[in-house]
Amino acid sequence: MHRQLEMTGNNTLFDSPHRRYNPLTREWILVSPHRAKRPWQGQVEKTPPENLPEYDPTCYLCPGNERAGGVKNPAYTGTFVFDNDFAALLPEAPHPQIQAPSADSLFKAEPETGICRVICFSPRHDLTLPQLTLEEAERVITAWSDQTAGLIRNPDIVHVQVFENKGAVMGCSNPHPHSQIWSQSQIPTEPAKELLSQKDYIAIHGRPLLLDYLAEEQARGERIVAANEHFTAVVPFWAVWPFEVLVIAHRAVTTLPGLTQPERRALAEIYQSVTTRYDNLFEISFPYSMGFHQAPNDKLDHPEWVLHAHFYPPLLRSATVRKFMVGYEMLGMPQRDITPETAAARLRSLPEIHYTRR
Ligand SMILES: [Zn+2]
Ligand SMILES: [Zn+2]
Repeated sequence: MHRQLEMTGNNTLFDSPHRRYNPLTREWILVSPHRAKRPWQGQVEKTPPENLPEYDPTCYLCPGNERAGGVKNPAYTGTFVFDNDFAALLPEAPHPQIQAPSADSLFKAEPETGICRVICFSPRHDLTLPQLTLEEAERVITAWSDQTAGLIRNPDIVHVQVFENKGAVMGCSNPHPHSQIWSQSQIPTEPAKELLSQKDYIAIHGRPLLLDYLAEEQARGERIVAANEHFTAVVPFWAVWPFEVLVIAHRAVTTLPGLTQPERRALAEIYQSVTTRYDNLFEISFPYSMGFHQAPNDKLDHPEWVLHAHFYPPLLRSATVRKFMVGYEMLGMPQRDITPETAAARLRSLPEIHYTRR
């Protein structure tokens, strides 16, 4: 029997297995709330704090230290940006001497060019974004915005991916707080899906998908984690990761350089609010992958696009128990146990003062 579920967490149908639709990617996820009640015999101990030094002479991101190829970092005092020494994309990819594939070829390949950069948040080896002052955090937002603005002046750059990959569990190789920008000549898979769905939505409804979604979330309130005048952070209705968060701009601004100074300040504030709650959840430096989705740089207007950020953290129950995307999820679709409503309520209830300052 097929039942259409009302989009409300008060619905008791949400206590039993169901699937939820992600209108941005047009993909479904399986929610199994009853499994969150199953007995757990795994580890729940806290890990001791890392106690990093303010400066690490062996860190290739600290001021004054040497990087790959003998390049020396300047004695920087704020943010610090450089071209990635091991870039995944290069500005001038050699055009391969291959025959153009026919449209239905099973062996398609194309050259891809781009520019990859690293952005250190501050000279301090030991301070993550929620531990910076609001002014310092705003300077990070401004650096991301300025970098995006500079990169999109290049007509060969169509997509600018700003992201932060934090924590060894995410494969981050250096604990010095930093982010990356990979910019390239094609739109990657995830934003390409979101572009199509947002275009279709505005064509039908006349309004941006994410602003309609935001209005619904504001009216319901149950999945909101934090909000200020210009941004709202929610655990999205269709969240896959246990404590996934979506930060949405309150107006249809399409890129980071499109933000006003008060909006950059508000974004820094909400970024710190989300990441402070994350750290306070298990009282550790909480790992995640985070990234902004900006409209493509293709000379077209993008009234459908609303600037937003996705936070994808892997931890589930403690500092050591993470969610894996394996088995059914590799072969079928993503699945979660605790509901997005429960996750949002937990994050919302946490103090906004970082645990290391208490
Ligand atoms: Zn360092
Ligand atoms: Zn997105």
